[in-house]
Amino acid sequence: MKVNHQRMLKNFLEITKIYAPSGEEKGMLDYAKKELTKLGCKVYIDKAGKTFGSTAQGNLTANFKGNIKSAPFILGGHLDTVRPCKNIKPIIKNGKVITDGKTILGADDRAGLAIIFEIIRTLKENKVKHPPVDIILTLCEEGGMFGSKALDTKIIKGKEGMLLDSESNEELVVNAPKAVLFYATIKGVASHAGVAPEKGINAMQVASKAISMMRLGRIDPMTISNIGIVNGGQSTNVVMPELTIQGEARSRIKGHLEKELKHIEDCFKKAAKMFVKKVDGKTIKPEIIWKTELKYPLLNIEPKSALISHIKKCGKKFGLNIQTASSGGGFDANVLAGKGLSMPIIGVGYADEHTTKESLDIETFFQTADLVLDIVLNYKK
Ligand SMILES: [Zn+2]
Repeated sequence: MKVNHQRMLKNFLEITKIYAPSGEEKGMLDYAKKELTKLGCKVYIDKAGKTFGSTAQGNLTANFKGNIKSAPFILGGHLDTVRPCKNIKPIIKNGKVITDGKTILGADDRAGLAIIFEIIRTLKENKVKHPPVDIILTLCEEGGMFGSKALDTKIIKGKEGMLLDSESNEELVVNAPKAVLFYATIKGVASHAGVAPEKGINAMQVASKAISMMRLGRIDPMTISNIGIVNGGQSTNVVMPELTIQGEARSRIKGHLEKELKHIEDCFKKAAKMFVKKVDGKTIKPEIIWKTELKYPLLNIEPKSALISHIKKCGKKFGLNIQTASSGGGFDANVLAGKGLSMPIIGVGYADEHTTKESLDIETFFQTADLVLDIVLNYKK
């Protein structure tokens, strides 16, 4: 069974013109809500938009009823695009959809959305046995996954599925790092640098000592740490009283990131101890304020799991040798993993995304739709 390719392409060309950069997704949300409601889905819009000031109310979640006894299969994508995306003019040329070069195409992720809409249309108009389908369409994926971070999954009953949001349909991203931001504030002691430097503790010197003892960069093939921002000091004639250092660590292996963060924190604390001193009979010492913040959780789906085996098996029917892959970035899939949902990412045929050279390979787009339809039709859990 196949989807209606031409209808899907027409739909893609139509929705790629909807203006909806990250934070201004209202137009695309309204379209998706109308379309999925028309197709018979139960649609729920959460309140995520408020958390980062979007023009859209929230993420869209939806249920499409099945007619066999099974857990739902989840299909997901994102509603926003990067810029420039005003007046997108899609052009078909040599088997690809491209733009006039003035804007992005927005196939990232409108190609994914068009596939999801077309699969629901196909299920609706054909008398065929299929499991229920849950749908998750997020806001602001490109802007830092702010939609998925505030996603309300209350109507989502499925536990696994796929995100349609990458380039190749022979690659399935199952592993991407957890990332944590860290902030170290080093409080020294201010003193007039010209008159009484010995009465002060220079925060910069404490930080330098700490950093000189620190492992940074690539720690192991799956783990990195980095210091990226330094803020402090106001005047050259004052012993620097305070300094804030900001960095991040990422790891694709459970536990390694925590170990690195502990190491970095320990270096600051150890350095602070080296600068304890007595001034006029009183002990003065630097203080370290350490804070961490989860940027996104670990994506780590077992390549031998039933879900991945099922996807690979369906791929073979289309002559596709689907391979699992790791990626260094953070995706909605990471955030959804943190909410207990297993959603590997499959490509839909776009290339050069986030540039005005972005294109969509029409054959890959069609094939992916048929493949994902097959994955849904043969899913039972
Ligand atoms: Zn995307």
